[in-house]
Amino acid sequence: MTTTGTAADTAATLLHYPRTSVGALPTAMAAAYGDRAAIVDGERTTTYRELDERSGAVAAALHEKGVGRGSVVLLHLGNSAEFAVVYYGALRAGATVTLTNPLQPVPGLRSQIAETGARVAFSENEGYGRVLDAADGTDLAVVVVGAEAAERGAVTLAEFTAGAGASPPLAIEPDDVAHLAYTGGTTGASKGVRVLHRNVIANVTQMIAWRAGHAVVEDAEGIVHLEPRDDAGVRGVDPGAAATVVVSPLFHAHALINMSFLLLCGATQVLAGRFDPGRMLELVERHRATYITGSPAMWHALATHPDVRTRDLSSVRVVSSGAAPIDRVTLEALAAAFPGGSVVEGYGLTEATCLVASAPLTADGEYRIGSVGLPTFDTEIEIREVGGSGPALGPGERGGLWVRGPQVTDGYLGHPEITAHQYVDGWLDTGDVAYKDEDGYVYICDRAKDMLIYKGYNVYPRELEEILVTHPDVSEAAVVGREVGAVGQEPVAFVVPAAGRAIDEDKLMAFVAEQVVPYKKVRDVIVVPSLPVSAAGKIQKVELRRRVS
Ligand code: AMP
Repeated sequence: MTTTGTAADTAATLLHYPRTSVGALPTAMAAAYGDRAAIVDGERTTTYRELDERSGAVAAALHEKGVGRGSVVLLHLGNSAEFAVVYYGALRAGATVTLTNPLQPVPGLRSQIAETGARVAFSENEGYGRVLDAADGTDLAVVVVGAEAAERGAVTLAEFTAGAGASPPLAIEPDDVAHLAYTGGTTGASKGVRVLHRNVIANVTQMIAWRAGHAVVEDAEGIVHLEPRDDAGVRGVDPGAAATVVVSPLFHAHALINMSFLLLCGATQVLAGRFDPGRMLELVERHRATYITGSPAMWHALATHPDVRTRDLSSVRVVSSGAAPIDRVTLEALAAAFPGGSVVEGYGLTEATCLVASAPLTADGEYRIGSVGLPTFDTEIEIREVGGSGPALGPGERGGLWVRGPQVTDGYLGHPEITAHQYVDGWLDTGDVAYKDEDGYVYICDRAKDMLIYKGYNVYPRELEEILVTHPDVSEAAVVGREVGAVGQEPVAFVVPAAGRAIDEDKLMAFVAEQVVPYKKVRDVIVVPSLPVSAAGKIQKVELRRRVS
């Protein structure tokens, strides 16, 4: 058995992890699924074969421009067939992909371009002007997706790939970086996680075994395909007959890794665009979706929508919730809406590629309400005293959740100290507080980190604090979350006025809103004479949270 995982260095693994790269998947899957629809985007269908051809053309065009191993390609794209074409094309050329929200304003783009050294950016018609502004002074090339013409030196995707030759031969090592995935991590400030090809391959292999009961196997040429696992008995995704409706953003780890998982399963991925519960239910019925994933805020809106009673949702076998804790009422409503399916919760984080734990879908597997299930194959979870890396705590004891497995990534770009603190002997400190029951089922209690989750999106208080204190009227700022039911926590700012200045709350909120994507907006400002500070000099956010609860 060949193994590539870090945790596997000393121990035999339960699964076999192929030595392949993410960019090789479209070709392998075109061989297996050919004319089956891979992506449905509005009225357009892209087959497995077309995805292979189109991503090959992107790879060839990048290769001809000298973009390959060691180069970084920025994806500033929303969900579309072109997202998949460009993503796999860039990886196939050997490049590393870094992703961002297409609504990302100029300052965030500028720092991501500088930090990653991105050489080519793929952007949308609405957003490429911002990429050009952010790239001012660099030699970043900008390719515009979904446009007939481009200005200011940018080129369209059709122009970029015109006349490109054959796709370059794949020359990627499993330890090459596939993604620089931006996330707040445990300290709150946005950082690029170095996700290696072998991490992505390991995590999708784990997902396929855990949720579809199949193994990923390579042939003599190293091309992968799926084979049933004889010990599995999983009643989850049925490879070759799966369909899904995608609403989560592909630039985030959850949907991104699910995309490769579903590609390997030969699934049809129907892109729903902006989340609308009525439209999603219509698409589930129309495309006979079998597997759907999303965040609690989305499930809440879906489960309480009146069309749940009139649509035929009997095709759905798995409904998976992740990214944030889901409440019991929503879970029960979901179970009632999808009586033929298993409603399960999954837990994961960008630093561990995507999936760490979820309810087992085997015949004897249980779904325990409130639990994120069991660690997936070859994955260990230990609960240790918060803030320490000491011995594992026992069942029922709350502490910091540490994880070890082949999906644990390589750390943060440009932050060796934070990486060394959080990645210890193959183990990752997730920054989440949790406990396990007697049978090893995991329950997430809280985030030790200050990150807020609003409508399933991460909001990093420190990022907002840093913007707030740049306003001349503000001397100090602290942002905490206020619980707003199923939507999550909205950012509320406590601010101390600068000497001799008065703060206009509305103007301050508008000042922040101009600089962040809409979901990160500060929703309330509370002016205080000072912030509570602990003896160690830290702002006591617990106290601030109490004031807004
Ligand atoms: P990200 O890296 O953006 O995927 O965010 C990961 C964080 O989301 C985790 O560290 C958790 O704090 C939170 N999270 C993910 N899944 C769950 C879940 N099922 N329950 C509670 N929190 C979750």
